[in-house]
Amino acid sequence: MQTEKKILLIATGGTIASRPTEQGGLAPAITSEELLNCVPELADLCHIDALQLFNLDSTSMGPAQWQAIVRTVRDNYESYDGFVVAHGTDTMAYTAAALSYMIQNSAKPVVLTGSQKSIYNRDTDARNNLYRAFVYAVSPDAWGVQLVFDSKVILGTRARKTRTRSFNAFSSIDYPETAAFRDLRLVPFLRRPEMPPVQFYERLDPNVFVLRLTPGMRADIIPLLIPYYRALVIESFGVGGLPGGERGEMFSALQHWCRSGRLAVFTTQVPHEGCDMAVYEVGRAVLELPGVMEAGDMMPEAVAVKLMWALGQSADREKVMELFETPVQWDVE
Ligand code: ASP
Repeated sequence: MQTEKKILLIATGGTIASRPTEQGGLAPAITSEELLNCVPELADLCHIDALQLFNLDSTSMGPAQWQAIVRTVRDNYESYDGFVVAHGTDTMAYTAAALSYMIQNSAKPVVLTGSQKSIYNRDTDARNNLYRAFVYAVSPDAWGVQLVFDSKVILGTRARKTRTRSFNAFSSIDYPETAAFRDLRLVPFLRRPEMPPVQFYERLDPNVFVLRLTPGMRADIIPLLIPYYRALVIESFGVGGLPGGERGEMFSALQHWCRSGRLAVFTTQVPHEGCDMAVYEVGRAVLELPGVMEAGDMMPEAVAVKLMWALGQSADREKVMELFETPVQWDVE
């Protein structure tokens, strides 16, 4: 399927671009051009330019790298029909969420991919994933920020790494996949929606702390965070609640946190179906505190990153809450 399309490959590192080091570990070293040379059949699909933005293990990536990717897409947006970002798998779901908030309503696809094994491994999944990322990127129905891995195309706000070793490492959480590959045939499940013009955002405030509750946790962790963080994500149990309910020490600590003008968002440690704090008495009163929200069925990765994005847009708590509660790219039902 040769198309007239022009796609920009943005290489950022990850296992896909790794080689063994003298010390015995794997580290990114392979360039964007070498990646393309390993998949010669890509030349039959479309015109490709390649750019090496950095070469990092994605464990070391964060807001500064997300901003660099967004700037690269923005600066090249008019010149290309789509973008493929080669990326490490470990934090790919965070980057996919970040790009979903920072590049909204893109009719052109921004596709993240990577692999569990280096592209030079004999039994690698890298060539397969890279090829499929481009097949999706040039397909007529492609749009928005998506993650292509193994046989799946997943919305950037719904992707999660659910396996550390297998080739089918990513899942779409609580939402249908955008499309699936049956061998090399792309079967679309979600159609490109009508969209207003693309919008780029660059500002982020990374001062978001994720607190995973464990039974018996001390409440005095919360005041310790006040000098450093503007928002707290509390990964609670089940559909959600605070130990001790309204009379507990956690509640008092959270009340103090909220009175200082900060935000808190409740989510759950359970992998599927989200939270609903109104169900149990240990959760109900918490929702009454000013600045407290719940994440519904949003993924924890998306919750943390959406808060960074929303905090980056405004200093006003009410405005940040409004941005957080407005759905973006099917991140919440
Ligand atoms: N540590 C690697 C990374 O995230 C893992 C991978 O790419 O699969 O960069």
